[in-house]
Amino acid sequence: MTKLLLLCFAVFVTANAEFTWRHHNNEELPLILEEVHQKCPNISRVYALTEPSVQNVPLYVIEFSDKPGIHQPYKPEVKYIGNIHGNEVLGRELLLGLAHYLCDQYVNRDRRIRALIHNTRIHLMPSMNPDGWQLATDTGAKDYLIGRYNNHTVDLNRNFPDLDAITFEFERQGINHNNHLLRDLTRLAAPLEPETRAVMRWIMSIPFVLSAAIHGGDLVANYPYDESRSGAPVSEYSASPDDETFRNLALAYAEAHADMASPSRPGCHTTSSDESSTFNFGKQGGVTNGAAWYSLKGGMQDFNYLATNAFEVTLELGCEKYPDASKLENEWVRNREALLAYLWKAHTGVKGIVSDDSGFIQNAVISVPTTSWFDDETSFGLYPHGLREGQPRIYKRSLYEKVAKTLLEQKDNQKQ
Ligand SMILES: [Zn+2]
Repeated sequence: MTKLLLLCFAVFVTANAEFTWRHHNNEELPLILEEVHQKCPNISRVYALTEPSVQNVPLYVIEFSDKPGIHQPYKPEVKYIGNIHGNEVLGRELLLGLAHYLCDQYVNRDRRIRALIHNTRIHLMPSMNPDGWQLATDTGAKDYLIGRYNNHTVDLNRNFPDLDAITFEFERQGINHNNHLLRDLTRLAAPLEPETRAVMRWIMSIPFVLSAAIHGGDLVANYPYDESRSGAPVSEYSASPDDETFRNLALAYAEAHADMASPSRPGCHTTSSDESSTFNFGKQGGVTNGAAWYSLKGGMQDFNYLATNAFEVTLELGCEKYPDASKLENEWVRNREALLAYLWKAHTGVKGIVSDDSGFIQNAVISVPTTSWFDDETSFGLYPHGLREGQPRIYKRSLYEKVAKTLLEQKDNQKQ
């Protein structure tokens, strides 16, 4: 019996292995992911998060790696999440298409895709809000709000713990503390929804370094913070300590997109005369700071950054929240290089393991010197601003000397 069923499934999967650009429902979504896995069993794995949606729909993820299911040293973990707002559906289809593309190109021996998958662990979650998607779809897919929320009428992108409030309070006290802030959380503003809880567990259990959440309704790459410091509802630039890096990440997407960064494209909201200038993001490189647009509390983007080491940006991929199926393939063409360029950004910066003679150092805090500190030869050898004796640092002195010696030896060798 079981064998026969499996056989039927395999036949079904093989017969449908060509990806079609259309809207895939909640029953089809895992079948598409399974199809990709059947085609690329050695470099993919399909899994569901620990909790399903309110309506009991599992939250599926497909992972790409040359060692699926395993975190490997030096291999950065990246994720894409689509369809957080149920009526914003482009990300959902783009991620299903991306899964097929990664697999197909790997099989076709595309050198760039093979290098990406050999050096990166990529997780794609096409839908965080399958219940909202169902409602939006069942009610004609045209409303600006219907289907946005989960089945408890909660906006999932306002349901994460408000860690911005904590880091802003530390700032007011003159304390530089902006990471792993869940430890400092004393109360929740609202109960966590099952979808939020599942995604939080996911974020906390895999050491992601890079992430993007895909929305719709505008065309812009939005970076932290999403919450303003003063509480101003709009137009207050709220820089994080990694503002430069975040701008660079957002620009990497915007500039590789067909026209997100184009100053000559019309804004999404040009019908209203005073909005036309404010919301024409093409004129500012296709990127915006979150709170410089409008402030929100409890968003997933700031949570990623403040609770873990993951840098997340929010991608608004089009004026239309629920584009017609006929437009999906063209949207894929417009977004494909940007989706890939952003994944490569996981290889920005330095990779390393914090250790000393006795092995790994857990929970080490790594501080990067500012350029001025680094350039100032008189302070070389001292610790960067804010780090003092007794606090964790990258290297214990013994290892620092060993590394320095190795570098000198290499220099000597080069001279010979
Ligand atoms: Zn949205």
